[in-house]
Amino acid sequence: MNHPEYEAVIGLEVHAELRTASKIFCSCKTEFGAAPNTQCCPICMGLPGSLPRLNRYAVELAIRAGLALECEIAPRSKFDRKQYFYPDLPKAYQISQNKYPLCRNGRLQIRTAKGVRQIRITRIHMEEDAGKLIHSPDGTRIDYNRSGVGLIEIVSAPDLRSGEEASAYLRALRGILVTAGVSDCRMQEGSMRCDINLSLRRRGEEALGARTEIKNVNSFAFAEKAIQCEILRQSELLARGERVESETRRFDEALGCTVRMRKKESAADYRFLAEPNLPVLCISQEDLLPIRAAMPELPEERRARLCKDYGIAEADAVILTSEPALADYFEASAEHCTDAVKLSHFLLGELLRYCRSDPFRSPVSALRLAELVALWCEERINGTTAKRLLARLVEADFSPEAVAAQENLMQIRDRESLCAMIRAVLADSPKAVEDYRKGKLAALRALQGRLMAVSGGRADPMLGERILLEMLSEEDDEKERACE
Ligand code: ZN
Ligand code: MN
Repeated sequence: MNHPEYEAVIGLEVHAELRTASKIFCSCKTEFGAAPNTQCCPICMGLPGSLPRLNRYAVELAIRAGLALECEIAPRSKFDRKQYFYPDLPKAYQISQNKYPLCRNGRLQIRTAKGVRQIRITRIHMEEDAGKLIHSPDGTRIDYNRSGVGLIEIVSAPDLRSGEEASAYLRALRGILVTAGVSDCRMQEGSMRCDINLSLRRRGEEALGARTEIKNVNSFAFAEKAIQCEILRQSELLARGERVESETRRFDEALGCTVRMRKKESAADYRFLAEPNLPVLCISQEDLLPIRAAMPELPEERRARLCKDYGIAEADAVILTSEPALADYFEASAEHCTDAVKLSHFLLGELLRYCRSDPFRSPVSALRLAELVALWCEERINGTTAKRLLARLVEADFSPEAVAAQENLMQIRDRESLCAMIRAVLADSPKAVEDYRKGKLAALRALQGRLMAVSGGRADPMLGERILLEMLSEEDDEKERACE
């Protein structure tokens, strides 16, 4: 799909809402979903004479993000006014950090089918969110509840090369921010949003081409899709000998492509100037100590630990740790299960197809999953029964062991019963027995199939096969004896 002679150069700017109870420069609440304009005050409404006061905890969360992404934390950083006119911005400027951001020079490890790559993080700065416009047929209203909610903006270097890599980056970033308690990163609620900067250049060239910015993409899938179609659009322009305009675009979900919004603003258009009402933000090494000490285990460390502690495959650990809630669920379930490897297979292979929510939430409790997998590991039920019971557990909670016993779903593993069934199968299938004697292996499969049918799918397949082979060879012996 990519034009072979061009290479995509992609950088992402991700805005994440800080998980603070109050806004970044006032004490208004940040709860999502409150009635419009019920969480505002003169400060976040931008009324003249109101003065901002920096939320200490917002700074701590931003530092946590910086540490988790291996950034340098600036001993001195500064707030600026980024000026632009838009109705959702009551002061007509956004308080942000321009020249002196809080964090610089970090990195993030991503994993795709092509392997592991380090993506450089250029900077992380703090800023405030804007309000929200609500459009309806009778006009546009403004909800200022979100105005002044604390954000960090995480800017990557232009190190990403494809939609797949961008999506892996966003997933890894969300995993880290959620785990570190920085943000809940709910894309559907807008607490994590992504701007994509994308240009093409001829392979082997260093200089960057003209870039477009795709604004406010709000899902991983849309980011990947937007990038794929923007690469295609730009490469077609270049192939026709036309120029790529430097412009701001947006991803149209219905059309499935990017559409032009406006000509790109340059930094000069924002007329940045220092925010005079906030002092320089000074962070000492001593300030960092307690924050560093309280950092939780991050996804990459957790991945390594899961492999070591539970003996699960690295690929499985990668998927589990991509979602903190999923890894939590696995560990909670593994506590009650002796075979963590089988548990991870069953969780990722079977249970996940019933989990559509984002972030991950399981319709089956961790304990129930463990009980079900244990029955299967102990070979008391077979794989087919395990899957059927899982489908029912998704609908209603019950004890898998009790139901399997009640409904006669347990595997038949006692020799007596299996021998009786197999004797009957052999007596009923002289043709198949005959074919088997002539060396047709398919006949053995047919006999096994009949055993499964006779047992209502409950015969232990391994033991059944062993007894079947024994009986077939016994009959041979008897025949030989008769001939002697
Ligand atoms: Zn306020
Ligand atoms: Mn920003």
